[in-house]
Amino acid sequence: MTATLIDGKAIAQELRASIAAATAALSKEHGIVPGLAVVLVGSDPASEVYVRSKSKAVTEAGMRSFDHKLPETASQAELIALIERLNADKSVHGILVQLPLPRHIDSTLVLNTIDPGKDVDGFHPVNAGRLATGQRALVPCTPFGCVIMAKKVHPSLSSLDAVVIGRSNIVGKPLAQLLLAENATVTVAHSRTKDLPAVCRRADLLFAAVGRPEMVRGDWIKPGATVIDVGINRVPGEGGKTKLVGDVAFAEAKGVAGAITPVPGGVGPMTIACVILNTLRAACAGAGLPEPKI
Ligand code: NAD
Repeated sequence: MTATLIDGKAIAQELRASIAAATAALSKEHGIVPGLAVVLVGSDPASEVYVRSKSKAVTEAGMRSFDHKLPETASQAELIALIERLNADKSVHGILVQLPLPRHIDSTLVLNTIDPGKDVDGFHPVNAGRLATGQRALVPCTPFGCVIMAKKVHPSLSSLDAVVIGRSNIVGKPLAQLLLAENATVTVAHSRTKDLPAVCRRADLLFAAVGRPEMVRGDWIKPGATVIDVGINRVPGEGGKTKLVGDVAFAEAKGVAGAITPVPGGVGPMTIACVILNTLRAACAGAGLPEPKI
């Protein structure tokens, strides 16, 4: 058996086209052009690449992109003052602060300063609470993308057994909440879980968000299960170069799973598409409009 590939690039492309259409309609019918402000402190090369691809996706969707670059030495007070200005700016519907921040800055304090209505990363405790209590919320982009991909394989996730490996605030916990909202039966596994392979083998839907290269082996997977690999790990490749691998041993897993995401080209592109989707959702909610139909 060979698993079907869940093509994150193609699904993200399709999603971005629908977002662009909904953005055009929002601007035509209500005169609103969604705007995303991205704040980068310092010059970490990986963060710079990520910020550039976000800005490009935003403008391609017909939205406005506002990039704010502060030097590595910027103070916490300067960063907070910038966020307060963006909170008050009516042309900005989404604010994204690129992590990690330099060590002298308290990330939690900074993220909690963002207006929850503009928190397109969905990290503010108000959005986490809204998600947990089933209210309209801005939800973290990576788990949002994971659920969209899982629903491409199973249009309804109701009553499926879902196992999420990882309990971070960014991926594991919000993913578990989103799956619960879809009526899946959810198990959250983590570094202290007993007999992780046996827990994974129960899963119709297996999500790996650990950060350990190829930890999930083929024999941890229930035959026919859907596997979504969130992990992005750099390991030595051929000719002294590094290559990217996920948290799942792909070559083994694809012989057992029913459907699986590749790394790269799986969850990554969906995360960016969900950033622009959240910007559109924030613009609609901010204007008292219903959720956009995507
Ligand atoms: P994290 O380090 O915050 O959390 C990792 C989680 O894995 C923890 O909850 C921990 O309990 C669990 N864990 C650690 N060792 C384990 C073990 N041996 N067995 C079971 N569980 C274990 O990481 P994160 O921010 O949630 O990211 C996880 C992975 O996803 C990383 O590889 C990261 O690069 C990737 N990621 C990808 C995207 C994307 O867009 N594709 C976005 C965010 C994170």
